[in-house]
Amino acid sequence: MSLENMEPKIDWKEINTVLLDMDGTLLDLNFDYYFWHEYLPENWAKQNNLNPQTAKIRLLDWYKQEAGTLSWYCLDFWAEKLDFDILKLKKDLTHLIKYRPHAQMFLERLNSTKISVAMVTNAHEDLIKMKAGVTGIDVFFDRIISSHSIGHAKEENAFWHKLRNTMPFDTSKTLLIDDNLSVLRTAKKFGIKHLLSVAKPNSQRPNQNTEEFEAIDSFDHIIF
Ligand SMILES: [Mg+2]
Repeated sequence: MSLENMEPKIDWKEINTVLLDMDGTLLDLNFDYYFWHEYLPENWAKQNNLNPQTAKIRLLDWYKQEAGTLSWYCLDFWAEKLDFDILKLKKDLTHLIKYRPHAQMFLERLNSTKISVAMVTNAHEDLIKMKAGVTGIDVFFDRIISSHSIGHAKEENAFWHKLRNTMPFDTSKTLLIDDNLSVLRTAKKFGIKHLLSVAKPNSQRPNQNTEEFEAIDSFDHIIF
């Protein structure tokens, strides 16, 4: 959808559950993007005496092979594959962990209603903990669910079936906001009725094309 038609109309009376992604939706994806595309390749190259460009090409190729799987989101998987302390290196960049525009206000507003609010994320539990430590984001949720505890990435149908067993919700009264289009497509197939994407998940990169999905740029577009 183009930015011009971007005023999603959410009928809040119809919604009793909001499911929110973390990285690229509530928090700036710049932290994650910069880590995987620049900071890790640089440091991994140093550790292995590789040319930085060679290291980067090799890593980007490996990322592509794992994209959309639980392994891609798993810090332990990469720590083992690269023989590198990923979590420790991430701690160097905590200054890049930030809310997206008006996300905190949106969460505060949701908390003043009876709407049930859950975080559903592919992020590893250790990373959720790190980000909650910096932002205090954990206080806003009735439930925080990592796909690692479910055993399937959000891109897989099984994730949504297992999620509903863990945390019953009415798909016709649920809103999911997620910057990842393949996650939104899987959720749509599962039956979640209200879906929104994010136009600019990363503050330092251009807008993404959200294709068939309506997108918010800033959360103040849907604050009620
Ligand atoms: Mg995301």
